[in-house]
Amino acid sequence: MSDCIFCQIGEGQIPSNKVYEDDKILCFHDLDPQAPVHVLIIPKKHITSLDDVTEEDSELLGYIMTKVKEIAATLGLENGYRLVNNCGEDGLQTVKHLHFHLLGKRKMDRSRSRRSGNAPRGSRSRSRHHNARQYD
Ligand code: 5GP
Ligand code: ZN
Repeated sequence: MSDCIFCQIGEGQIPSNKVYEDDKILCFHDLDPQAPVHVLIIPKKHITSLDDVTEEDSELLGYIMTKVKEIAATLGLENGYRLVNNCGEDGLQTVKHLHFHLLGKRKMDRSRSRRSGNAPRGSRSRSRHHNARQYD
């Protein structure tokens, strides 16, 4: 898609700091890292979000999952990592081209998911949730 920033990165029209590339996928460093290691893994094919994946994409999605550990190893993430997908409006997806955030080299926080239940609007836990560090 010509107006998609990640398609343009995939086609080399916009420069990126590449970590891995083949004919199907690209991995590059995030512009605004939320951890000492923060890269994005994208399919070169334009898929808007996880919600737009079809049966036809299952091989490609499986392929991405098999590449995660390989990319993590090249980045020295032998102590573990977090893989994140933000989907749609509630998922706070900002770039509408499917991508997975691979984060590592810091201890991730477990607290956000515990905090985020059904807290009433304006409650302490809700406002803390909004102030939480992204991807924790
Ligand atoms: P989302 O919020 O959609 O899950 O994540 C989009 C990510 O893309 C953000 O972490 C943002 O920093 C990153 N990003 C946005 N534009 C660019 C860009 O032009 N180059 C790179 N390397 N990362 C980008
Ligand atoms: Zn795209």
